[in-house]
Amino acid sequence: MSNLDFEVSGAVAVLRLDNPPVNSLGHELRRAIVDALARAEDDPAVQAVVLIGSGKGFSGGADIREFGTPKSLAAPNLHSVLRAVEDCSKPVIAAIDGVCMGGGLELALACHYRIATLEAQLALPEVKLGLLPGAGGSQRLPRVVGFERALNMIVSGNPVRAGELRGTALFDAMTAGDLRAAALDLARALIAEGRGPKRVRDLRITMPDAEAYLQFARNTVRGLAGPYPAPPACVEALTAALKEPFEAGLRRERELFVTLMASPESAALRHIFQAERAASHINGMPAAVATRPINRVGVVGAGTMGGGITMSFINAGLPVTLLETTQEALDRGLANIRRNYQGALRKGSLTEARLEQRLALITPTLQYEPLREVDLVVEAVFEDLEVKRKVFERLDAIVKRGAILASNTSTLNLDVIARFTQRPQDVIGLHFFSPANIMRLLEVVRGAETANDTLATAMALAKTIGKIAVVAAVCDGFIGNRMVARYGMAAHDLLVAGALPQQIDAALQNFGMAMGPFRMADLAGLDIGWAIRKRRAAEFPNEDFANVADILCEAGRFGQKTGAGFYRYEAGAREALPDAAVTAIIERYREAKRVVPRTVSDAEIVERCIYALINEGARIVAEGIAQRSSDVDLVYLNGYGFPAYRGGPMFYGDSVGLMTVARALSRIAAAPGGDAAFWTPAPLLARLAREGKTFSELRGSAT
Ligand code: NAD
Repeated sequence: MSNLDFEVSGAVAVLRLDNPPVNSLGHELRRAIVDALARAEDDPAVQAVVLIGSGKGFSGGADIREFGTPKSLAAPNLHSVLRAVEDCSKPVIAAIDGVCMGGGLELALACHYRIATLEAQLALPEVKLGLLPGAGGSQRLPRVVGFERALNMIVSGNPVRAGELRGTALFDAMTAGDLRAAALDLARALIAEGRGPKRVRDLRITMPDAEAYLQFARNTVRGLAGPYPAPPACVEALTAALKEPFEAGLRRERELFVTLMASPESAALRHIFQAERAASHINGMPAAVATRPINRVGVVGAGTMGGGITMSFINAGLPVTLLETTQEALDRGLANIRRNYQGALRKGSLTEARLEQRLALITPTLQYEPLREVDLVVEAVFEDLEVKRKVFERLDAIVKRGAILASNTSTLNLDVIARFTQRPQDVIGLHFFSPANIMRLLEVVRGAETANDTLATAMALAKTIGKIAVVAAVCDGFIGNRMVARYGMAAHDLLVAGALPQQIDAALQNFGMAMGPFRMADLAGLDIGWAIRKRRAAEFPNEDFANVADILCEAGRFGQKTGAGFYRYEAGAREALPDAAVTAIIERYREAKRVVPRTVSDAEIVERCIYALINEGARIVAEGIAQRSSDVDLVYLNGYGFPAYRGGPMFYGDSVGLMTVARALSRIAAAPGGDAAFWTPAPLLARLAREGKTFSELRGSAT
């Protein structure tokens, strides 16, 4: 019973859960609780039991390390623990502080009495994994906090402060003082008054106008849930709590839980949950690498990215020295930062005073000298190797030894940039996504010479500023842009073959992408790709880089910013409107290429664009550019609007079956006039398909 401390205080047995960090209800702890309850039951001196947490609180629920392993179901499972608690003949009191979530809250609900600190955080967050509380939570919570409040908690999964639930039957007492002492007082009072076990299952839910409310709840939740089955299932489980006897309600909850557990949406969400945890593990990194302290940072360039990056740091309370070349550029950058906060001010999520506090963390400068003492600098100047060379040479000369020098470059070779300095071990890529203050993704680019502690520090910093960091090795485009280039090429081929931008975008949006490729291109600006293609065409004169977007750019159509691109935009509006002029341009382009347009189906659009992503992802994993396929998924989910309920492109490939994907790719590769090199299945994909395996089964993957 190493993860449970059993102590008898007078007539009260105190069972202290001690399974750091959050007392998750893993197999050993479940066993220990059942054993300790039996011991308390058998001890005639014990007349009441207190169940209390330690460390970060009462209990964070199921042990995620057990997910998908036989241990998660090994006896005693959570249900039998709850039954043992509920059936105990002596009153069992849950003493709750800190986190009390998921199975942890379900355990507390099975106890006979509950006492909490005001600040304890309670939640049933299962819906966030596409599930519902599967151990009686949907049946017991409405019996103590009321139907509507329970519905809100279970359908949102969000935590609620215990203080907000004061006065409900969830708590028999609350304390602002010492929880253990207060719980012992409650236990002694119960003993003195001869009050025995009191079970939540015996309470009835009262609900006037139940039918009307249920109808309203069903409609609202279904509307908000979109493609996710879990929120409506939560409403169904709660309905059973209202209408059925307790045991029948439990059975309904179980049925719904089992169905959700088998749903592809929940599998995808659980994959993402594990993927986020796996992403911070760095292959080949010794366990004992110490990170460097980062207390003050520098940002070079106050343009689109530099401004957003500065906001990410100051939002986390890190002071930033912001360097520009001219006062005018600096003023413009600062004004943009201030303007970007206006939305938060209007919504009330930020006050004027807090805004001023944040802005005061910025030290604007036109000199390198103030960067001398920073611990890390992010360079976000023009995407031009010579400009970057000058910046890195100056940084190398000025910034203190041991500081980290990071580049936000999207397309340049980080190893070349690192060589502009005498300290390539301290150079790393921090590839933020636009808008950098909003987008959660950060590709952390590990150069050939990047030191382990530089990388570990960058990963820790990412966590500090609330980003999901994924490690990438150096290559053209890293993970995300390398894949999106393939996706864009597949979409462009379909345009030439016979589809229109609006059809391609609609098909991919119906698949679940936040935005189709042509709307995305219009938003990003077509001139960026145009410039890159012109540069590449000069570098590789024998290759064909022609693109419909070149003709649009020649006509001054750079996308949303010029009011026209693949679509047209009304002044000040963002709605993408199909444009006959674009159709005419595409038709002329097809004629010039001697293409006879054909009908393209929506299914073909999805197949080609998404399978192109999977194929490139397989190359990226095989080359070690990404450490694991789930990292590729995280990049695409968080940087490019891939639908979470499909788990990311690689997970989607696994779900469809890699043999299906490989066969389709081979078929497209063999089609006359097609680009066989582009479509041939990547060797890793072909091998896994042959062996009947998935990307997830590769060593080091998240699930
Ligand atoms: P931008 O043109 O908006 O901003 C660049 C800023 O750098 C300008 O304000 C300019 O005055 C300043 N600058 C130029 N030379 C400088 C110097 N020597 N010292 C100090 N400041 C200097 O460009 P951006 O879109 O912010 O891109 C910056 C970098 O971020 C590029 O490397 C780009 O590839 C990368 N990036 C851009 C995006 C994006 O979506 N825009 C996304 C990821 C990465």
